[in-house]
Amino acid sequence: MSMDELMDFDEVMDLYEPVLGLEVHVELNTASKMFCSCSTAFGAEPNSQTCPVCLGLPGALPVVNAKAVESAIRIGLALNCSIADWCRFARKNYFYPDMTKNFQTSQYDEPLCFDGSVDIEVDQQTYTIPIERAHMEEDAGKSVHRGSSTGRITGAAYSLMDYNRAGVPLIEIVTRPVMGTGAAAPEVARAYVTFLRDMIRALGVSDVRMEQGSLRCDANVSLMPKGSTTLGTRTETKNVNSLRSIAKALRYEICRQGAILARGGTVTQETRHWHEDGAYTSAGRSKEQAEDYRYFPEPDLVPVAPSRTWVDELRATIPLNPTMRRAALREAWGFTENQMRDAVAAQAVDLIEATIEAGCSPQAAAKWWMTELTRRANADGLGLDELPITGAQVAQVQELVDEGLINDKVARQVFEAVLAGDGAPRAIVESRGLAMVADTSALQEAVDAVIADNPDVAAKIRDGKVQAVGALIGAVMGRMSGKADAAKVRELILETLTEGN
Ligand SMILES: [Zn+2]
Repeated sequence: MSMDELMDFDEVMDLYEPVLGLEVHVELNTASKMFCSCSTAFGAEPNSQTCPVCLGLPGALPVVNAKAVESAIRIGLALNCSIADWCRFARKNYFYPDMTKNFQTSQYDEPLCFDGSVDIEVDQQTYTIPIERAHMEEDAGKSVHRGSSTGRITGAAYSLMDYNRAGVPLIEIVTRPVMGTGAAAPEVARAYVTFLRDMIRALGVSDVRMEQGSLRCDANVSLMPKGSTTLGTRTETKNVNSLRSIAKALRYEICRQGAILARGGTVTQETRHWHEDGAYTSAGRSKEQAEDYRYFPEPDLVPVAPSRTWVDELRATIPLNPTMRRAALREAWGFTENQMRDAVAAQAVDLIEATIEAGCSPQAAAKWWMTELTRRANADGLGLDELPITGAQVAQVQELVDEGLINDKVARQVFEAVLAGDGAPRAIVESRGLAMVADTSALQEAVDAVIADNPDVAAKIRDGKVQAVGALIGAVMGRMSGKADAAKVRELILETLTEGN
């Protein structure tokens, strides 16, 4: 299937400038749908969350979900957009089995949010992404194809329709053409969508899970000969469902288009499908122009006219954008650039923050999340945030260490137990007798026994070869089942041997 001729990426970059266009759909997490009171809960019995409005039955009257408008405005503000004083919904007319109305209620020439921009960083270089608009619309239902090996429509025996998703509120965020990114284009696209995901998650208006489809990206790209100002023909790669795939799909399209242009061909304006397994795109339908949709203002809905007071109130609720927040946290926590970058890459920032808020020092919080817990998450094939342990519990483990009740080695056992669901850290230490032996006489007994067992080593230490003490410390720790403070053991051994002189 992957028959496309590809040009080497660097060669394409010598000849052409890639121009990006990114359309991101975000499913809002409102309790009810955009224009009716049906539930939006994910995973319900097919067609159990429908009503005359979202099924588009004749005569049904839609009503705008105020919470969805609020979420849309907050997203717009976070993208530095202007918010319309007054705007309308529009009907986007087309037929598709997953949309019973034969039109999608969307916005056309009067978007709620427009003219924004965000700055993102790739390899210490800042790129400004111009945002054309962020508008409100509704999701369509879902077709389920049966009888084909791929689950796609090709070769299917029949298809089933589930309208539970029909009418779920969506925000579509559209960039203007993004130019001047050069060879960084694929990574800039990825960084931009990462920024949107983190920012929208911080706003709390969507769970932005790409793999579940609550964040979807269509990535457009075209190539412009170097030195030209005329945009080339673009293709749109649909529904790329991971951040990594965005960069990979764009890179593929750039190499494919480069090969076509270099041999004097023309790129067809079309949608392309990304195939994750073979890492290639294939042609979909040829792309419609806006006029094909016969847009017109939606007559059944009143215009949306958010008051300036309301918009200002909402503006006050916008959190720092992820880039600024990271910079602020790095400063507050005293992390190095590298430490912060690692924490971001591991998606550990929120977890470290929760741990610090629960009373842990920043360095200890980072230490546990970035080593012990990362190791556990990798071993179990989970994301860090999927581990069954909270920031507060990590802080409690560190508190036990700080109190001298356990050492780092025992702390690892405590983490194991917490992750296994055995309860709170302090209770685990108590119930399993993991607390270090503070009783000096018990320690002294172990030290004396180890010295008696190792007369040669003891003699060396007496002769001044203090580095030999390590072997004895290990033996004492063994006798104490690891429940002793190594520094204290060392002190005791040296004391004992000196006294013996
Ligand atoms: Zn409904």
